[in-house]
Amino acid sequence: MKYKRCGTRVFVRIDKGEELIENLKAICKELNITLGSICGIGATDKVTVGLMNTKTKKYQSKEFTGDHEITSVLGNVTTMNGEVYLHLHITLGNVEHKIIGGHLTSAVISATFEGIIDIIEGQITREYHDEVGLNLLRL
Ligand code: FE
Repeated sequence: MKYKRCGTRVFVRIDKGEELIENLKAICKELNITLGSICGIGATDKVTVGLMNTKTKKYQSKEFTGDHEITSVLGNVTTMNGEVYLHLHITLGNVEHKIIGGHLTSAVISATFEGIIDIIEGQITREYHDEVGLNLLRL
């Protein structure tokens, strides 16, 4: 993983074999980023995406292996209990050029990932809402 800060934005490169979320978190920690947005593109060959079942309030997760283009990762950086908290969604293009996607749980990069973290000044935390079953933004 490599990154370069340019003003309020950070260009990110995550390399083959590296896990996407843990590396994005590490960059946020190193640069003390507590609030921001993230976008990116790349490729993965092992990715787990979730779908929130609003009745059971649990994620239904599914793993996909093999070559997939990361056509987009989109999400935000906040904090919860003093830790960096990333909420990311992903869309993937498969070998048939069909798109799948969902809540991003983990992705191992197969070629490269190119991302931009947009740093926002301030801090927003999260709190668990039992009714929804999610850590919602505390605004
Ligand atoms: Fe989500």
